[in-house]
Amino acid sequence: MAQGSQFIPPGHQACAKCGRGIDPARALYSNEGDLVCDGCFSTADIAARLDRAARGLAYSTVAAAVFSWICNPFFIVSGIAIVNSVAALRYLVRADVKQALGSSHSTLFVLAILGLAIAGARLLLELAAIGLMMAAG
Ligand SMILES: [Zn+2]
Repeated sequence: MAQGSQFIPPGHQACAKCGRGIDPARALYSNEGDLVCDGCFSTADIAARLDRAARGLAYSTVAAAVFSWICNPFFIVSGIAIVNSVAALRYLVRADVKQALGSSHSTLFVLAILGLAIAGARLLLELAAIGLMMAAG
């Protein structure tokens, strides 16, 4: 760690991410199969976890929102979709999450907003229908 980033001892290989020399006995492989140092390995691991969590939130938001149009007893599914989309949006505005996601960040952000719009539209439609029924008496 104290040595310069360009110094690679003989018999050691350079980290694919930061270029630091790696002791072959402690070498690790990233998800992409690159040889990386332990520092970059744990960073990549955190990024992968953040990425998975963000994807899970965004996709489940859209799934719940679409499902709320099919089956929505007592607005439960609408509620789940809306709470989920708010959680997804709050998660996606975090700087570390944004950095971990890279180019897929905007896609997931759009998905979370889309889920909120789909679920919100369904909820408003249902409330309007109830309102009309009550008005018609
Ligand atoms: Zn590294």
